[in-house]
Amino acid sequence: MNKRVFLSPPNMSGKEQEYIAEAFESNYIAPLGPFVNRFEESICNYTKAPYSLALSSATAGLHLALRVLGVGEGDIVLTSSFTFIGSVNAILYERATPFFIDSDESWNISPLLLKEAIALAPKKPKALIITHLYGQMAKIEEIVAICKEHNIYLIEDAAESLGASFQGKQSGVFGDLGVYSFNGNKILSTSGGGMLVSASKEWIEKASFFATQAKEPYLYYEHKEYGYNYRLSNILAAIGVAQMEVLEERVAKKRAIFEYYQEELSGIEEISFMPEIEGSRGNRWLTTITFEKTNPFEIIEVLEKHNIESRPLWKPMHLQPLFKESLQIRSGISENLFQKGLCLPSGTALQKRDIVAICTLIKKHI
Ligand SMILES: *Cc1c(COP(=O)(O)O)cnc(C)c1O
Repeated sequence: MNKRVFLSPPNMSGKEQEYIAEAFESNYIAPLGPFVNRFEESICNYTKAPYSLALSSATAGLHLALRVLGVGEGDIVLTSSFTFIGSVNAILYERATPFFIDSDESWNISPLLLKEAIALAPKKPKALIITHLYGQMAKIEEIVAICKEHNIYLIEDAAESLGASFQGKQSGVFGDLGVYSFNGNKILSTSGGGMLVSASKEWIEKASFFATQAKEPYLYYEHKEYGYNYRLSNILAAIGVAQMEVLEERVAKKRAIFEYYQEELSGIEEISFMPEIEGSRGNRWLTTITFEKTNPFEIIEVLEKHNIESRPLWKPMHLQPLFKESLQIRSGISENLFQKGLCLPSGTALQKRDIVAICTLIKKHI
Protein backbone atom coordinates (compact mmCIF):
# COMPACT_ATOMS: atom_id res chain seq x y z
CA MET A 1 0.00 0.00 0.00
CA ASN A 2 1.39 3.43 -0.87
CA LYS A 3 -0.72 5.15 1.75
CA ARG A 4 -0.69 3.59 5.20
CA VAL A 5 -3.82 1.67 6.09
CA PHE A 6 -4.67 2.40 9.71
CA LEU A 7 -6.67 0.23 12.06
CA SER A 8 -9.60 2.62 12.54
CA PRO A 9 -8.76 6.22 11.60
CA PRO A 10 -11.20 9.11 12.00
CA ASN A 11 -13.62 9.63 9.13
CA MET A 12 -15.06 13.13 8.93
CA SER A 13 -18.44 13.70 7.30
CA GLY A 14 -17.54 17.03 5.70
CA LYS A 15 -19.88 19.07 7.88
CA GLU A 16 -17.44 19.41 10.78
CA GLN A 17 -15.62 22.50 9.52
CA GLU A 18 -18.87 24.30 8.84
CA TYR A 19 -19.97 23.73 12.43
CA ILE A 20 -16.55 24.66 13.79
CA ALA A 21 -16.76 27.93 11.81
CA GLU A 22 -20.17 28.53 13.40
CA ALA A 23 -18.69 27.96 16.85
CA PHE A 24 -15.92 30.45 16.05
CA GLU A 25 -18.40 33.06 14.89
CA SER A 26 -20.33 32.74 18.14
CA ASN A 27 -17.01 32.97 20.03
CA TYR A 28 -17.99 30.07 22.27
CA ILE A 29 -14.40 28.85 22.36
CA ALA A 30 -15.16 27.34 25.74
CA PRO A 31 -16.08 24.16 27.57
CA LEU A 32 -19.72 25.07 27.23
CA GLY A 33 -21.85 26.54 24.49
CA PRO A 34 -24.58 25.70 21.99
CA PHE A 35 -22.72 22.81 20.34
CA VAL A 36 -22.16 21.06 23.66
CA ASN A 37 -25.92 21.21 24.21
CA ARG A 38 -26.63 20.03 20.65
CA PHE A 39 -24.14 17.18 20.98
CA GLU A 40 -25.79 16.03 24.21
CA GLU A 41 -29.24 16.27 22.59
CA SER A 42 -28.10 14.25 19.58
CA ILE A 43 -26.90 11.46 21.88
CA CYS A 44 -30.19 11.47 23.78
CA ASN A 45 -32.15 11.38 20.50
CA TYR A 46 -30.13 8.53 19.08
CA THR A 47 -29.72 6.34 22.17
CA LYS A 48 -32.99 7.32 23.87
CA ALA A 49 -31.00 8.00 27.04
CA PRO A 50 -33.02 10.54 29.05
CA TYR A 51 -29.96 12.54 30.18
CA SER A 52 -26.42 13.00 28.89
CA LEU A 53 -23.26 14.89 29.73
CA ALA A 54 -20.50 15.69 27.20
CA LEU A 55 -17.02 15.16 28.64
CA SER A 56 -13.36 15.31 27.70
CA SER A 57 -13.12 11.49 27.51
CA ALA A 58 -14.91 8.24 28.25
CA THR A 59 -12.36 7.61 31.00
CA ALA A 60 -13.59 10.79 32.68
CA GLY A 61 -17.15 9.51 32.25
CA LEU A 62 -16.36 6.24 33.99
CA HIS A 63 -14.64 8.12 36.78
CA LEU A 64 -17.65 10.37 37.29
CA ALA A 65 -19.97 7.36 37.18
CA LEU A 66 -18.11 5.75 40.09
CA ARG A 67 -17.95 9.05 41.94
CA VAL A 68 -21.70 9.76 41.74
CA LEU A 69 -22.44 6.21 42.85
CA GLY A 70 -20.30 6.82 45.91
CA VAL A 71 -17.74 4.12 45.11
CA GLY A 72 -14.64 4.68 47.21
CA GLU A 73 -11.75 3.16 49.06
CA GLY A 74 -12.23 -0.49 49.92
CA ASP A 75 -15.29 -0.97 47.71
CA ILE A 76 -15.22 -3.86 45.27
CA VAL A 77 -15.99 -3.09 41.62
CA LEU A 78 -16.58 -6.10 39.39
CA THR A 79 -15.40 -5.62 35.82
CA SER A 80 -14.76 -7.32 32.47
CA SER A 81 -11.20 -8.55 32.31
CA PHE A 82 -11.10 -8.66 28.51
CA THR A 83 -11.08 -4.93 27.84
CA PHE A 84 -8.95 -1.83 27.39
CA ILE A 85 -7.44 -0.34 30.54
CA GLY A 86 -9.44 2.88 30.09
CA SER A 87 -12.37 0.81 31.27
CA VAL A 88 -10.86 0.09 34.69
CA ASN A 89 -8.43 2.93 35.49
CA ALA A 90 -11.22 4.89 37.16
CA ILE A 91 -11.60 2.12 39.75
CA LEU A 92 -8.01 2.84 40.79
CA TYR A 93 -8.61 6.60 40.81
CA GLU A 94 -11.23 6.01 43.51
CA ARG A 95 -8.96 3.56 45.39
CA ALA A 96 -11.58 0.87 45.00
CA THR A 97 -10.68 -2.78 44.36
CA PRO A 98 -11.26 -4.24 40.89
CA PHE A 99 -12.46 -7.84 40.60
CA PHE A 100 -11.77 -9.12 37.08
CA ILE A 101 -14.22 -11.47 35.42
CA ASP A 102 -13.25 -13.51 32.39
CA SER A 103 -15.14 -14.00 29.13
CA ASP A 104 -17.35 -16.76 27.78
CA GLU A 105 -17.83 -17.88 24.17
CA SER A 106 -19.32 -14.46 23.34
CA TRP A 107 -15.84 -12.99 24.06
CA ASN A 108 -17.63 -10.64 26.46
CA ILE A 109 -18.01 -11.03 30.22
CA SER A 110 -19.41 -14.38 31.35
CA PRO A 111 -22.68 -14.07 33.32
CA LEU A 112 -21.93 -17.45 34.94
CA LEU A 113 -18.56 -16.26 36.21
CA LEU A 114 -20.18 -13.00 37.26
CA LYS A 115 -22.51 -14.94 39.58
CA GLU A 116 -19.56 -16.92 40.94
CA ALA A 117 -17.59 -13.75 41.52
CA ILE A 118 -20.44 -12.23 43.51
CA ALA A 119 -20.56 -15.36 45.66
CA LEU A 120 -16.77 -15.42 46.11
CA ALA A 121 -16.19 -11.71 46.74
CA PRO A 122 -14.82 -10.94 50.21
CA LYS A 123 -17.65 -8.43 50.60
CA LYS A 124 -20.68 -7.33 48.60
CA PRO A 125 -19.53 -5.63 45.39
CA LYS A 126 -20.86 -2.14 44.88
CA ALA A 127 -20.79 -1.88 41.10
CA LEU A 128 -20.08 -3.73 37.87
CA ILE A 129 -18.44 -2.17 34.82
CA ILE A 130 -18.97 -4.18 31.65
CA THR A 131 -17.46 -3.57 28.24
CA HIS A 132 -19.27 -4.30 24.98
CA LEU A 133 -16.10 -5.51 23.36
CA TYR A 134 -15.19 -4.35 19.86
CA GLY A 135 -18.72 -2.95 19.57
CA GLN A 136 -20.43 -6.31 20.10
CA MET A 137 -23.14 -6.53 22.74
CA ALA A 138 -22.41 -8.44 25.95
CA LYS A 139 -25.18 -10.69 27.32
CA ILE A 140 -26.84 -7.63 28.69
CA GLU A 141 -30.23 -9.07 29.64
CA GLU A 142 -28.69 -11.67 31.94
CA ILE A 143 -26.24 -9.15 33.35
CA VAL A 144 -28.97 -6.63 34.16
CA ALA A 145 -30.96 -9.36 35.92
CA ILE A 146 -27.96 -10.47 38.02
CA CYS A 147 -27.19 -6.88 39.04
CA LYS A 148 -30.82 -6.26 40.01
CA GLU A 149 -30.97 -9.47 42.04
CA HIS A 150 -27.84 -8.57 44.00
CA ASN A 151 -28.40 -4.84 44.21
CA ILE A 152 -25.22 -3.98 42.33
CA TYR A 153 -24.96 -0.82 40.23
CA LEU A 154 -24.34 -1.47 36.54
CA ILE A 155 -22.09 0.81 34.49
CA GLU A 156 -21.82 0.10 30.77
CA ASP A 157 -18.53 0.91 29.13
CA ALA A 158 -19.96 1.50 25.67
CA ALA A 159 -16.81 3.33 24.53
CA GLU A 160 -16.50 0.95 21.59
CA SER A 161 -20.16 0.20 21.01
CA LEU A 162 -21.97 3.43 20.11
CA GLY A 163 -24.70 2.36 17.69
CA ALA A 164 -24.82 -1.27 18.87
CA SER A 165 -28.14 -2.53 20.17
CA PHE A 166 -29.93 -5.48 21.76
CA GLN A 167 -33.56 -6.00 20.75
CA GLY A 168 -33.55 -2.47 19.41
CA LYS A 169 -32.29 -0.89 22.63
CA GLN A 170 -28.94 0.87 22.44
CA SER A 171 -25.83 -0.19 24.31
CA GLY A 172 -25.17 2.23 27.15
CA VAL A 173 -28.78 2.64 28.28
CA PHE A 174 -29.32 -0.73 29.97
CA GLY A 175 -27.24 0.12 33.03
CA ASP A 176 -27.53 2.78 35.72
CA LEU A 177 -24.97 4.80 33.81
CA GLY A 178 -23.33 4.37 30.40
CA VAL A 179 -20.30 5.87 28.70
CA TYR A 180 -19.39 6.47 25.03
CA SER A 181 -16.00 7.50 23.65
CA PHE A 182 -15.15 9.82 20.77
CA ASN A 183 -11.42 9.18 20.81
CA GLY A 184 -9.46 9.15 17.55
CA ASN A 185 -10.00 5.51 16.63
CA LYS A 186 -13.58 4.99 17.77
CA ILE A 187 -16.52 4.66 15.36
CA LEU A 188 -17.04 8.44 15.66
CA SER A 189 -14.28 10.84 16.65
CA THR A 190 -14.15 14.37 18.01
CA SER A 191 -10.34 13.92 18.29
CA GLY A 192 -11.05 13.23 21.94
CA GLY A 193 -14.24 13.25 23.94
CA GLY A 194 -16.75 11.22 25.87
CA MET A 195 -20.39 11.14 26.89
CA LEU A 196 -22.01 9.96 30.10
CA VAL A 197 -25.66 8.91 29.92
CA SER A 198 -28.26 7.92 32.48
CA ALA A 199 -31.97 7.84 33.21
CA SER A 200 -31.21 9.63 36.47
CA LYS A 201 -31.31 13.40 36.21
CA GLU A 202 -29.81 13.63 39.68
CA TRP A 203 -26.71 11.59 38.78
CA ILE A 204 -26.09 13.51 35.56
CA GLU A 205 -26.44 16.82 37.40
CA LYS A 206 -24.08 15.61 40.11
CA ALA A 207 -21.61 14.39 37.48
CA SER A 208 -21.80 17.78 35.77
CA PHE A 209 -21.05 19.43 39.12
CA PHE A 210 -17.97 17.23 39.70
CA ALA A 211 -16.87 17.77 36.08
CA THR A 212 -16.74 21.55 36.59
CA GLN A 213 -14.49 21.72 39.69
CA ALA A 214 -17.39 21.05 42.09
CA LYS A 215 -18.22 24.73 42.10
CA GLU A 216 -21.20 25.51 44.33
CA PRO A 217 -23.92 27.63 42.71
CA TYR A 218 -22.89 30.93 44.28
CA LEU A 219 -21.76 34.17 42.71
CA TYR A 220 -18.33 33.71 44.27
CA TYR A 221 -16.28 30.50 44.26
CA GLU A 222 -17.47 28.22 47.01
CA HIS A 223 -16.35 24.59 47.38
CA LYS A 224 -17.60 21.92 49.72
CA GLU A 225 -16.29 18.95 47.71
CA TYR A 226 -13.43 18.38 45.27
CA GLY A 227 -14.04 18.02 41.56
CA TYR A 228 -12.36 17.78 38.17
CA ASN A 229 -12.07 19.68 34.93
CA TYR A 230 -13.72 17.14 32.66
CA ARG A 231 -16.05 19.13 30.38
CA LEU A 232 -15.84 19.00 26.58
CA SER A 233 -14.89 22.01 24.49
CA ASN A 234 -17.62 23.59 22.36
CA ILE A 235 -15.32 23.27 19.32
CA LEU A 236 -14.96 19.53 19.76
CA ALA A 237 -18.69 19.26 20.39
CA ALA A 238 -19.22 20.92 16.98
CA ILE A 239 -17.27 18.01 15.46
CA GLY A 240 -19.40 15.64 17.52
CA VAL A 241 -22.68 17.07 16.19
CA ALA A 242 -21.49 16.54 12.61
CA GLN A 243 -20.27 13.03 13.42
CA MET A 244 -23.56 12.01 15.02
CA GLU A 245 -25.33 12.86 11.74
CA VAL A 246 -23.50 9.97 10.04
CA LEU A 247 -23.53 7.39 12.85
CA GLU A 248 -26.03 5.09 11.13
CA GLU A 249 -23.99 5.22 7.91
CA ARG A 250 -20.84 4.41 9.84
CA VAL A 251 -22.40 1.41 11.56
CA ALA A 252 -23.65 0.13 8.19
CA LYS A 253 -20.15 0.55 6.73
CA LYS A 254 -18.45 -1.19 9.67
CA ARG A 255 -20.86 -4.08 9.29
CA ALA A 256 -20.24 -4.23 5.53
CA ILE A 257 -16.48 -4.31 6.16
CA PHE A 258 -16.99 -7.26 8.50
CA GLU A 259 -19.00 -9.04 5.81
CA TYR A 260 -16.34 -8.42 3.13
CA TYR A 261 -13.71 -9.93 5.41
CA GLN A 262 -15.96 -12.87 6.15
CA GLU A 263 -16.50 -13.52 2.44
CA GLU A 264 -12.83 -13.19 1.60
CA LEU A 265 -11.63 -15.43 4.43
CA SER A 266 -14.51 -17.91 4.42
CA GLY A 267 -12.43 -20.63 2.78
CA ILE A 268 -9.91 -20.76 5.62
CA GLU A 269 -10.99 -23.22 8.25
CA GLU A 270 -8.68 -22.07 11.01
CA ILE A 271 -10.09 -18.53 11.03
CA SER A 272 -13.09 -17.60 13.21
CA PHE A 273 -14.77 -14.24 13.70
CA MET A 274 -16.04 -12.61 16.86
CA PRO A 275 -19.64 -13.74 17.29
CA GLU A 276 -22.77 -11.63 17.63
CA ILE A 277 -25.23 -12.67 20.32
CA GLU A 278 -28.78 -13.47 19.25
CA GLY A 279 -31.12 -10.49 19.14
CA SER A 280 -28.25 -8.02 18.92
CA ARG A 281 -26.75 -5.81 16.25
CA GLY A 282 -23.13 -4.97 16.94
CA ASN A 283 -21.50 -1.93 15.42
CA ARG A 284 -18.52 -4.10 14.36
CA TRP A 285 -16.18 -1.32 15.45
CA LEU A 286 -13.26 -3.58 14.62
CA THR A 287 -13.36 -6.80 12.65
CA THR A 288 -11.60 -9.28 14.91
CA ILE A 289 -10.57 -12.83 14.09
CA THR A 290 -8.73 -15.75 15.65
CA PHE A 291 -6.38 -18.29 14.07
CA GLU A 292 -6.34 -21.90 15.20
CA LYS A 293 -2.77 -22.61 13.99
CA THR A 294 -1.14 -19.49 12.58
CA ASN A 295 0.59 -17.10 14.97
CA PRO A 296 -1.26 -13.76 14.62
CA PHE A 297 1.94 -11.87 15.44
CA GLU A 298 3.38 -13.18 12.14
CA ILE A 299 0.36 -11.79 10.29
CA ILE A 300 0.87 -8.42 11.97
CA GLU A 301 4.44 -8.40 10.65
CA VAL A 302 3.42 -9.43 7.15
CA LEU A 303 0.80 -6.68 6.98
CA GLU A 304 3.20 -4.13 8.50
CA LYS A 305 5.65 -4.81 5.65
CA HIS A 306 2.89 -3.65 3.31
CA ASN A 307 2.20 -0.55 5.36
CA ILE A 308 -0.97 -1.97 6.88
CA GLU A 309 -1.73 -1.59 10.58
CA SER A 310 -3.24 -4.51 12.49
CA ARG A 311 -3.10 -5.30 16.20
CA PRO A 312 -3.41 -8.07 18.74
CA LEU A 313 -6.63 -8.28 20.74
CA TRP A 314 -6.69 -6.57 24.14
CA LYS A 315 -4.44 -8.24 26.67
CA PRO A 316 -6.79 -9.23 29.51
CA MET A 317 -6.53 -7.12 32.66
CA HIS A 318 -5.93 -10.13 34.91
CA LEU A 319 -2.73 -10.81 32.94
CA GLN A 320 -1.39 -7.27 33.30
CA PRO A 321 1.59 -6.77 35.64
CA LEU A 322 -0.36 -3.87 37.18
CA PHE A 323 -3.04 -6.31 38.36
CA LYS A 324 -0.82 -9.27 39.35
CA GLU A 325 -2.30 -9.40 42.83
CA SER A 326 -5.90 -8.68 41.87
CA LEU A 327 -9.15 -10.45 42.62
CA GLN A 328 -10.05 -12.44 39.51
CA ILE A 329 -12.09 -15.30 38.18
CA ARG A 330 -10.83 -17.00 35.04
CA SER A 331 -12.18 -19.20 32.28
CA GLY A 332 -8.99 -19.15 30.20
CA ILE A 333 -11.02 -17.84 27.27
CA SER A 334 -9.72 -14.28 27.09
CA GLU A 335 -6.13 -15.47 27.49
CA ASN A 336 -6.65 -17.87 24.61
CA LEU A 337 -8.25 -15.14 22.49
CA PHE A 338 -5.33 -12.82 23.23
CA GLN A 339 -2.88 -15.46 21.99
CA LYS A 340 -4.81 -16.31 18.85
CA GLY A 341 -6.58 -13.11 17.94
CA LEU A 342 -6.10 -10.21 15.57
CA CYS A 343 -7.82 -6.86 14.92
CA LEU A 344 -8.04 -6.15 11.20
CA PRO A 345 -8.09 -2.68 9.62
CA SER A 346 -11.69 -1.52 9.91
CA GLY A 347 -11.71 2.18 9.04
CA THR A 348 -14.99 3.32 7.51
CA ALA A 349 -13.21 4.87 4.53
CA LEU A 350 -11.72 1.47 3.61
CA GLN A 351 -12.48 0.24 0.09
CA LYS A 352 -13.45 -3.29 -0.81
CA ARG A 353 -10.27 -3.63 -2.86
CA ASP A 354 -8.20 -2.81 0.26
CA ILE A 355 -9.90 -5.66 2.09
CA VAL A 356 -9.29 -8.03 -0.82
CA ALA A 357 -5.60 -7.04 -0.78
CA ILE A 358 -5.33 -7.55 3.00
CA CYS A 359 -7.02 -10.94 2.81
CA THR A 360 -4.79 -12.01 -0.08
CA LEU A 361 -1.71 -11.28 2.08
CA ILE A 362 -3.18 -13.27 4.97
CA LYS A 363 -4.08 -16.22 2.76
CA LYS A 364 -0.66 -16.23 1.11
CA HIS A 365 1.07 -16.33 4.48
CA ILE A 366 -1.10 -19.14 5.80
C1 LIG B 1 -11.37 3.74 24.16
C2 LIG B 1 -11.88 3.05 25.34
C3 LIG B 1 -11.99 3.69 26.57
C4 LIG B 1 -11.46 5.07 26.82
O1 LIG B 1 -12.05 6.05 26.07
P1 LIG B 1 -11.42 7.54 26.11
O2 LIG B 1 -12.46 8.39 25.49
O3 LIG B 1 -10.18 7.46 25.28
O4 LIG B 1 -11.14 7.87 27.52
C5 LIG B 1 -12.55 3.01 27.62
N1 LIG B 1 -12.96 1.75 27.49
C6 LIG B 1 -12.87 1.08 26.33
C7 LIG B 1 -13.38 -0.31 26.25
C8 LIG B 1 -12.30 1.69 25.21
O5 LIG B 1 -12.15 1.02 24.08
